[in-house]
Amino acid sequence: EIVVLRLGHRPERDKRITTHVGLTARALGADGMILASDDPKIEENIKEIAPRWGGEFFIKNDANAMEEINNWKKVGGKVCHLSMYGINLPDAVPELKKESKLMFIVGAEKVPGEIYEVSDWNVAVGNQPHSEVAALAIALDRIADTDPLLKTFDNAELTVIPMEKGKKVVHDNELIEKNKQNKV
Ligand code: SAM
Repeated sequence: EIVVLRLGHRPERDKRITTHVGLTARALGADGMILASDDPKIEENIKEIAPRWGGEFFIKNDANAMEEINNWKKVGGKVCHLSMYGINLPDAVPELKKESKLMFIVGAEKVPGEIYEVSDWNVAVGNQPHSEVAALAIALDRIADTDPLLKTFDNAELTVIPMEKGKKVVHDNELIEKNKQNKV
């Protein structure tokens, strides 16, 4: 099980990037995203997109970061904070791969010092500044046992068929109809 804890989200500034953190987490194999800020729009957005493309992905809005971390650790989960100051990802991958419950923490602006303390690993995805979306994508890819880009999603209303040219999307009309009825 892999969860992503998103810290420091500022609703006006970070709405796109936090949505991208969630979508990237989902696309590359995480089970859910916990948002340590109150922004129901992010939750709405992802809850609208995710079911259309299948699989299971949870989103929790307005969480308390330290509470989430402590609860996760209580059930045997480990915590990996992604920041450019940590040990480099390739050195951490063998250990990270052994864990069955892993929480990745990504920040927005400045991450509080206690997060560095409470994390089992502070991991740098290279020691250059870049983006939480990029850091998360590379980390999820590197720790995966099977190629996340070949993952298929169950119960998808929409499935893209890869091809050299053109766009082909298969619509599962039966499922679309069923989901519509469940909504009302
Ligand atoms: N300046 C902020 C600080 O010092 O905490 C970080 C800003 S950065 C745009 C936002 C987030 O991207 C960080 O909290 C971290 O999770 C992620 N990030 C950026 N570069 C990274 C790197 N090289 N390795 C791992 N994570 C990185």
